[in-house]
Amino acid sequence: AESCDSYRRRHEITVTGDEVPPPFTSFEATGFSPEILREVHQAGFSVPTPIQAQSWPVALQSRDIVAIAKTGSGKTLGYLIPCFIHLKRRRNNSQLGPTVLVLSPTRELATQIQAEAVKFGKSSKINCTCLYGGAPKGPQLRELDRGADIVVATPGRLNDILEMRRVSLHQVSYLVLDEADRMLDMGFEPQIRKIMKEVPALRQTLMYTATWPKEVRKIAGDLLVNPVQVNIGNVD
Ligand code: ADP
Ligand code: MG
Repeated sequence: AESCDSYRRRHEITVTGDEVPPPFTSFEATGFSPEILREVHQAGFSVPTPIQAQSWPVALQSRDIVAIAKTGSGKTLGYLIPCFIHLKRRRNNSQLGPTVLVLSPTRELATQIQAEAVKFGKSSKINCTCLYGGAPKGPQLRELDRGADIVVATPGRLNDILEMRRVSLHQVSYLVLDEADRMLDMGFEPQIRKIMKEVPALRQTLMYTATWPKEVRKIAGDLLVNPVQVNIGNVD
């Protein structure tokens, strides 16, 4: 089998952090459930993408991650599959609020993430609700009331619903900031910081970004604890 260093070199993976586990270079190496592996196989995926290979073993250790990789590199499943495993371990009551919160910059992206969560989480029987602006709140609130293990939200709409006291984030223990650079470009930083006040400090935080400018480094420093940094290609 290929060595860890050779795999990382071949895929331009650079990692920093304490005792970073070796990448999962095949789906067999992941130890994912047969149900999840079946979904992956049905989707036609033959090997993990580099960001998945390196971020899955880290995420499964419940550690914080900042992952820098360009668009189209498979970041969504990079955080969704470990979140299904996290949910299985927690077994929280979804009526009391979500266990997983994913923040996303746009409605379009949020609905794509939800679709992927539904597709790959079918066997895990997870409920995933999407909250975004530009649409009436009623249906979103009714969905929340039915219980959601995963909430995928744009920061503005989530704050509106928090202000109405219609969702509680006190059970959140797995937090994802997807497309962090884009959220900051869109001016969502104050909204994100407001949401963070409602999320328990004791949690796992995963941040995904395509670029690594100083604004993103700053918020990563504020929200992540001793993260493993995974960088794919020469983006930085
Ligand atoms: P990103 O968030 O990095 O832009 P996505 O998570 O949206 O990328 O994934 C891009 C595309 O690659 C999606 O269509 C997704 O279904 C597909 N994909 C994800 N993982 C794999 C894989 N291991 N092998 C092949 N395609 C994959
Ligand atoms: Mg993405």
